Amino acid sequence: MDNLREIISYLAGKKVRFADAREHLFREREITTEDTRVEQITEQNVSGVGIKALWENGWGYASTSRTDPAALRKTADKALALAKSADKSAAGAVELAGEPRHTAKFSTTIKEDPFDVKVSDAVGVLLQAGETILKGKDVIKAGSYLVFRNMKKKYANTEGSVIETDVFTVLPQIEATARAGGEVKTRHYWPAPMNAGYEYFRGIDFKTNAERIAAQAREHCFARSCETGTATLILDPEHLSLTMHESVGHPTELDRVLGYEESCAGRSFATMEKLNNFKYGSEIVNFIADNTLEGGLASCGYDDEGVECRKWHMIKNGILTGYGVNRELAHRMKMERANGTTRAAKYCDVPITRIPNLYLAPGAKPLSVEELIADTDDGIYIEGMGSFSIDQMRLNMQFGGDAFWEIKKGKLTGMLKNVVYNAISYEFWRSCDAIADERSFKRAGFITCGKGDPMQLAQMTHGASPARFRKIMVRRAK
Ligand SMILES: [Zn+2]
Repeated sequence: MDNLREIISYLAGKKVRFADAREHLFREREITTEDTRVEQITEQNVSGVGIKALWENGWGYASTSRTDPAALRKTADKALALAKSADKSAAGAVELAGEPRHTAKFSTTIKEDPFDVKVSDAVGVLLQAGETILKGKDVIKAGSYLVFRNMKKKYANTEGSVIETDVFTVLPQIEATARAGGEVKTRHYWPAPMNAGYEYFRGIDFKTNAERIAAQAREHCFARSCETGTATLILDPEHLSLTMHESVGHPTELDRVLGYEESCAGRSFATMEKLNNFKYGSEIVNFIADNTLEGGLASCGYDDEGVECRKWHMIKNGILTGYGVNRELAHRMKMERANGTTRAAKYCDVPITRIPNLYLAPGAKPLSVEELIADTDDGIYIEGMGSFSIDQMRLNMQFGGDAFWEIKKGKLTGMLKNVVYNAISYEFWRSCDAIADERSFKRAGFITCGKGDPMQLAQMTHGASPARFRKIMVRRAK
């Protein structure tokens, strides 16, 4: 930390308006298996220091993979020169939201460091799951994917904040592919990715789920195609995690709303004049952003602007009530503080606004998923994630799924196939007329959310209880 403090006082001596330095170690182990063999094991260790400087109204960012004083000074000089150059063409005054000075440490609560456990231990578990899957009737392929990630960061800025964070992430998944009746179908099991230690991986029931997905992959092959037309959908938490990611998470990134992301991945329909008055969903739709969530993938204590992670309503009783906001744009919202959503993927990346942990709050009235299905006369229950597409304003969207079940007279009557649905994002959330209660709340999430130019991959948790949507346009995909 001394090297960071030293470089910050060097930049303060140069009379910058603001500067921060972030030492960032990114470590990742990825294991992929195919059938009963290891396909690939990769290990990444990426480390270095990123320095950001504000000169008048210009920002500069530079990074180095070295941590010695000479390299840091050279990098600081580069960041400052870039800031001075940017200031000459600054579009307007930079107003940086205040943030209390933090001297803090944050770490994921873990019992066992995944990187201390032999690789063969995890490989053994995955290959055993593969063997179980391959025993399934008509199964032709088994696969798995496992990621352990550790991000250690040290942060210091000219306001006196000194922060250390240590975050561990586990993402496991397995899949089964069956061929029968002239069809080939794949079914996945995605335990929730978590910020956790190896003990989380140990606690996952791969055997039961391997047997289940093997049987369901085969059943999917014999499913009948869905009908094209409007339908009632009940969507499970895993499925909803992708829908909310694309239609609520990305549209509520304030930098995207204001056009800073336009060239890479588009803008957002959820523009600022809609704040506190736009009906984004029905009255029962509440979206909570919470980067303080225990085990949440975006829970890191403090973000890469030195801002303490927070919890707020993104959508309250159906109304748009918030955005993910960085320190530079907070004044546009008349917010005194940013909300701790600014993160960089690696040391060489500029921190940008990222989707926080974001979940659909469970229904307030007692309602189990069984009661929700029993209360549905005619519909489709969709589990898991499939294909997706959404336009550059985050309005027109289309989603598939991993498994589809027909609901007739309140009962699941068998599998369907080739289901996709289309909707306008806010009309979709407005059509939500029931959400199961907290008993069926489940987490899901992503570690590969792409944003920025050059592209950065970030991680965040989503979650929901199964929810029902009326009059959705469903199409047969084939
Ligand atoms: Zn994303």
